[in-house]
Amino acid sequence: MLLSGLLLPLPLQTPNPSLPPISTASLRPRASTIRRAGGGGSGAVPRLALRRRLEVRALDAAQPFDHESRASDLLERRSKLKIAIIGFGNFGQFLAHTFARQGHALLAHSRSDYSDAARSLGVSFFRDAHDLCEEHPDVVLLATSILSTGAVLRSLPIQRLRRNTLFVDVLSVKEFPKNLFLQLLPPGFDILCTHPMFGPESGKASWAGLPFVYDKVRIGDANGRADRCQRFLDIFEREGCRMVEMSCTDHDENAAEIQFLTHTVGRILAKLDLKSTPINTKGYETLLNLVENTCSDSFELYNGLFMYNKNSTELLDRLDVAFDSLKKELFGNLHDILRKQLFKSTQSSLERANN
Ligand code: NAP
Repeated sequence: MLLSGLLLPLPLQTPNPSLPPISTASLRPRASTIRRAGGGGSGAVPRLALRRRLEVRALDAAQPFDHESRASDLLERRSKLKIAIIGFGNFGQFLAHTFARQGHALLAHSRSDYSDAARSLGVSFFRDAHDLCEEHPDVVLLATSILSTGAVLRSLPIQRLRRNTLFVDVLSVKEFPKNLFLQLLPPGFDILCTHPMFGPESGKASWAGLPFVYDKVRIGDANGRADRCQRFLDIFEREGCRMVEMSCTDHDENAAEIQFLTHTVGRILAKLDLKSTPINTKGYETLLNLVENTCSDSFELYNGLFMYNKNSTELLDRLDVAFDSLKKELFGNLHDILRKQLFKSTQSSLERANN
C-alpha cells in the first residue's frame, strides 16, 4: 500500500493545550490527496479507516493548522495582554476603546458603576477590586484623577495580584505617581509611568503623531518582564504615537509650560464667556477651540496639574509677572502720549498768553 509513504510518523497535536481544539471538519483531506495516495485503491483498506488516517496525517493537505499559521497565531496571542483599568471615567474608557480594538483582554474597576459602558466596549467590569485582582491581569493601569490616585492605590488588594504584575499610570503629572508607586508597591512589581499627551478631544480621530511620554521606572530582569513592558508600549507605537522616553522630573518641568499654561489660558478665556461672531478670524477661532478643548476636561484634572506639579506655582507667578509687564508697557505708552499732549497744550496756552 503506497499510502504509508505519505504519512507523518507523529500524530497531530496542538502545540499548546490552551489553544482551542481544532474542528474535525477542518481536518478533512482534499479529494486529490486520497486519489494520489490510494492510487486507484485495492479495497484492502476500509474507506473509514483510510479517511481516519488521512485526517490526521496527510502531508500535502494545506490545512489552516499548518506550522506557519500555528506559529503566527501563537505569536499573535502572546502579544496580547490582560489589562486591568482602574478608574473607568472619561480617559479610562477612551483608552479602553483602542486597547479593545487591538485585541487585548480588558478588565475595569471604578468608584462608579460603569457596567453598561464596559459591556459596550467588550470590557469585564468588576464592582469589587478583590474580584478584579483575582483575575491576575498582566498590567494594572491607573487612570484615576490625580487627586484620588493615592487613596485608590492604597485601597487595592495588591496581595491578590501575581507577584510581578506591571503597574502603569497615565496621570498628567509624573513625579507624584512615580514616588507613590515606589513607596506603596512591593519591590517585585514593575513600574512604568506614562503620559499620553492627548485626550478624547485631541485624539478623537487618530493618535498618529501625538506624543506619548514614558519612563521605565522599574522593570525587572526576570524572564518576560521587559517584553511585557514593551508589549504595553507597542499599543501606542502601533497607533503611530510619537514615543518619547523621558524622566518623570523632566516631564513635569516641560509639562508645566506645555500643559498647565495651555489649560490656564483656556480657563481664563472661558471666564470671559467668549462668543462666536460672524467675523471670527482664524486667531479668534483658535482661542474658541482652546476654551473648548481645555474645559471639556474635568476641573479636578486641572486642579491636579496645579497641586501635583511643583513647577505649576512658579508658572502662575511668571504668568502674573508677564501680564503686569504687558500692562505696564501699554499704560506706559498711554501715559507718554497723554503727558506729551498735556505738556503740548500747556505750552501752547502759555505761548498764547505771552503773545
Ligand atoms: P479625572 O477627573 O482626572 O479622573 C476621573 C477618574 O477618577 C474617574 O475614573 C473617577 O472615578 C476617578 N475618581 C475621581 N475621584 C475619585 C475618588 N475620590 N475615588 C475613586 N476614584 C475617583 O478625568 P479623566 O479625564 O478621566 O482623567 C483620568 C486620568 O487620566 C487623570 O489622572 C488625568 O491626569 C489623566 N489623563 C487625562 C487626559 C485627558 O485628556 N482627559 C489625558 C492624559 C492623561 P468614577 O468615574 O468612577 O467616579
